[in-house]
Amino acid sequence: MIERLENWIDGRPVPPVSGAYLPDYEPATGTVFAEVPDSDAADIDRAVKSARAAFPKWSETPAAERSRMLLALADGLESQLERFARAESQDTGKPIRLARTLDIPRAIANFRFFATAILHTHSESHATDRAALNITLRQPRGVAGCISPWNLPLYLFSWKIAPALATGNTVVGKPSEVTPYTAYLLGEVCRDVAFPPGVLNIVQGRGPTAGAALVAHPDVPAITFTGGTATGAELGAQAARRFKKVSLELGGKNPAIVFGDVDLDRVVPEAVRAAFSNQGQFCLSGSRLFVDERIFGEFVKRFVEVAGRLRVGDPADESTEFGALVSAAHRDKVASYMSLAREEQAEILLGGGPPASLPERCRNGYFLSPTVLTGVRPDSRLMREEVFGPVVTITPFRSAAEAVTLANGIDYGLAAVIWTRDLDRAHRVAAALEAGIVWVNCWLFRDLRTPFGGMKQSGIGREGGEEALHFFTETKNVCIRFDEGEVR
Ligand code: NAD
Repeated sequence: MIERLENWIDGRPVPPVSGAYLPDYEPATGTVFAEVPDSDAADIDRAVKSARAAFPKWSETPAAERSRMLLALADGLESQLERFARAESQDTGKPIRLARTLDIPRAIANFRFFATAILHTHSESHATDRAALNITLRQPRGVAGCISPWNLPLYLFSWKIAPALATGNTVVGKPSEVTPYTAYLLGEVCRDVAFPPGVLNIVQGRGPTAGAALVAHPDVPAITFTGGTATGAELGAQAARRFKKVSLELGGKNPAIVFGDVDLDRVVPEAVRAAFSNQGQFCLSGSRLFVDERIFGEFVKRFVEVAGRLRVGDPADESTEFGALVSAAHRDKVASYMSLAREEQAEILLGGGPPASLPERCRNGYFLSPTVLTGVRPDSRLMREEVFGPVVTITPFRSAAEAVTLANGIDYGLAAVIWTRDLDRAHRVAAALEAGIVWVNCWLFRDLRTPFGGMKQSGIGREGGEEALHFFTETKNVCIRFDEGEVR
């Protein structure tokens, strides 16, 4: 049966004004399992009106009470963790184990983290001699527009809406039209925990219609966006024209540098995980590997062995480690890079096409195998463009300086990984890398207090911890002048 999803506006499910819906596909099978509102400017306007009406009360609600409400949302989510994990896996094609252990727990953690963080904020004051006291107020901006992508749907949606709500803003969120399901279910949790109507509104629909209308809306002063670099450039220009505050978390094509002193037994499985988790559809995936030439042959051999053992299959199966890509269009885009690899005579050491065998249920699903390439030139599009799928390149380097030049040689600068036992070298290389996040001897290890975001074309601004709390608040300096004179 095809389930009908709705928008969540003013505390209840609301059909789109136009009555139009889009199909929602299950990537593992290629079948439609739900339909989602194809919302437009009229729906966005309705949601913004509701958010604006709720703003005065929510922004004046004491922080401790806002915190309590966000913790209730987290508890509500946690009580349905398995349902949400299954929904996320069905909607994205990611293995159920990943949704259960990463996506939904992280969404819960996002709400809990910002619910607590808001109780520990501080504001500045500056005494100007004895003449004045300056107090910096941090006030919520109003209605925050939160736009998120499909690769980590609830994980990233909650990463945006939790700090926005915690700081006293009301929200209109627009999840990806490709993966609307868990955001829809979040509306049900809002109902279950009696979250105040209008404070969180969720409008489903496509980017150029619903998303663009949210960016253009005059009553939405702040936009936080996670998605592709091309979309971010367009959206940033639209927002700048209207003097909106914008945070852009964009694409990545992240280097992983492996020095010759590492323990390959430990590093290879981690490098494979960084490359192929979520079918390589992580903005943080380590997809460009640079390996010390002294261990290059051995590393490549072991990497291919470990990647070749990944269990590719039905995402709903508990043993599956590698599922389906998110859509047919995305699968075709990733596959076109495999054709490019053949044209450019790169060596395809693993994969390069669909898996040899799949369960019957998945025969029309959007699958591609983990693919490992060597012999790719630094100026190749395979090296410079974000494939956002299970395709990695492995390239040898002779010196740390050469590794840094190769790593920095493209337009993206989101994340980087360094594998070495030499901490002095790790420290120097980390400082030289053009990336917003550098992991040393780990990948995806996250402390939510730390700044998160990219350099170069990977984004503008930072989210996470205080950075997010600052983004969602406007600073205002209040200067109180005193009469000067003797102590009376
Ligand atoms: P996308 O840019 O196509 O879409 C992202 C969101 O923006 C969706 O909700 C979409 O509907 C909306 N959108 C599209 N066009 C719009 C417009 N003109 N105006 C307003 N909204 C619009 O990205 P995607 O394909 O969903 O996601 C994949 C991309 O996201 C990759 O490039 C990936 O690297 C990036 N990403 C970045 C991070 C990060 O933290 N830096 C995290 C995850 C994903």
